[in-house]
Amino acid sequence: MNDLSSRIWPPFDATLPGAKKYDESDPLKSVRSLFHIPKTAAGSDVIYLTGNSLGLQPTSTRSEVLEVLDDWQQYGVEGHFKAKNAWMPYHQRLTEAMATVVGALPSEVVVMNSLTVNLHLLMASFYRPEGKRRKILIEHHAFPSDRYAVRSQIAWHGHDPDQDLLIAGASENKDILDETEIESLLAEHGAEIALVMLGGVNYYSGQLFDLPRIARAAHQAGAKVGFDLAHAAGNVALSLHDWDVDFAAWCSYKYLNAGPGGPGAVFVHEKHGTDFSLPRFSGWWGHDAATRFKMPEKYQPMTGAEGWQLSNPPILSLAAMHAALSVFTSVGMAAVTRKSGLLTAFCMQLLSQECAEGIEIITPTDPKRRGAQISIRVKPRGTLTGRQVFERLEENGVICDWREPDVIRLAPVALYNSFEDVYLFVQRLKSALVE
Ligand SMILES: *Cc1c(COP(=O)(O)O)cnc(C)c1O
Repeated sequence: MNDLSSRIWPPFDATLPGAKKYDESDPLKSVRSLFHIPKTAAGSDVIYLTGNSLGLQPTSTRSEVLEVLDDWQQYGVEGHFKAKNAWMPYHQRLTEAMATVVGALPSEVVVMNSLTVNLHLLMASFYRPEGKRRKILIEHHAFPSDRYAVRSQIAWHGHDPDQDLLIAGASENKDILDETEIESLLAEHGAEIALVMLGGVNYYSGQLFDLPRIARAAHQAGAKVGFDLAHAAGNVALSLHDWDVDFAAWCSYKYLNAGPGGPGAVFVHEKHGTDFSLPRFSGWWGHDAATRFKMPEKYQPMTGAEGWQLSNPPILSLAAMHAALSVFTSVGMAAVTRKSGLLTAFCMQLLSQECAEGIEIITPTDPKRRGAQISIRVKPRGTLTGRQVFERLEENGVICDWREPDVIRLAPVALYNSFEDVYLFVQRLKSALVE
């Protein structure tokens, strides 16, 4: 009767017994035990709603990392070939699982470097300003680092970022950006736009963009399209190959749970993977693996995304990422997004029922336009500020996050958050909102 997958919600039974009942019938309820949940000083589980910023540690991470340390201790340099999982091809252990999470062919994905570095490497290939076509289109409220990155790319090509950076939605300064606005900018300025680069899920509002629609519009205008999927990978359903996206990059430490500073990953569409005329930066790890160690005079890139690698990768971090991706492989993205849709809807309903007077919900209510993130703005009342509400939550065993100037972000993560977490969070928020 309470099978989560076969009923249409909401309305949910928004009580503590209701939350417990949903947890009981949750097909992923045992997955929480595959993660370490941080504890309060009193020893109980914190309510961790920050998986969009740093995902929790899988219980299998420690042993996978220790295995690398043990092999290094035992074999020294020979671990490249003799380790239980040899380091030379170690990154390939991650490829298939990573490709599945983002809807790509294995040849289109490689784990390497970190996110912002990868954005630059990919823009070196896919942002090629020429004549009048030299603008980059990004979204209002793009992650500041992404804005720094695209501005510096424009300047690096000898152009003026103030002229050549187009920001969709900036004039209206709204939290949510309608796709039609991006389309009309492309219709109007298409011939001048070289690259459309958006965050798949906006870090600030939690809005999920209609990525295939944006990819289509960008291509129609003759532009390349790339996505920053930092907040989308491991969070929402993606089909990068079928959507014909040119490139994408993401990090692994948010919804993917690979640990602080975990490696980045990139997608390069198959159609570009054998195009060796594309300008790219080169390093030995992108060289054809068959002859890499012969170190020939002439550089011969690998086909596919692997051809964008430069350096030998950090094996200890890859081990942590392998542990994290194994959870996704066993659970599957379909189960993740199904539960996350319910958990987020449950949270939305409770917030509107219990806290409507004190907060405004920024994130779209339409489940197709969001993943597992809800951004709220505390309404100014009396002397109580949003920042104070956030601090009260922290004092009360809730870890969520604060974004200047006025936003609290919560991520009910399907793999380790429960309906009870969400229920208790809303109760604590309600008390924190009392003047
Ligand atoms: C988290 C995040 C980053 C962080 O970049 P790093 O290179 O991993 O430090 C960049 N862009 C977006 C959109 C993010 O959400």
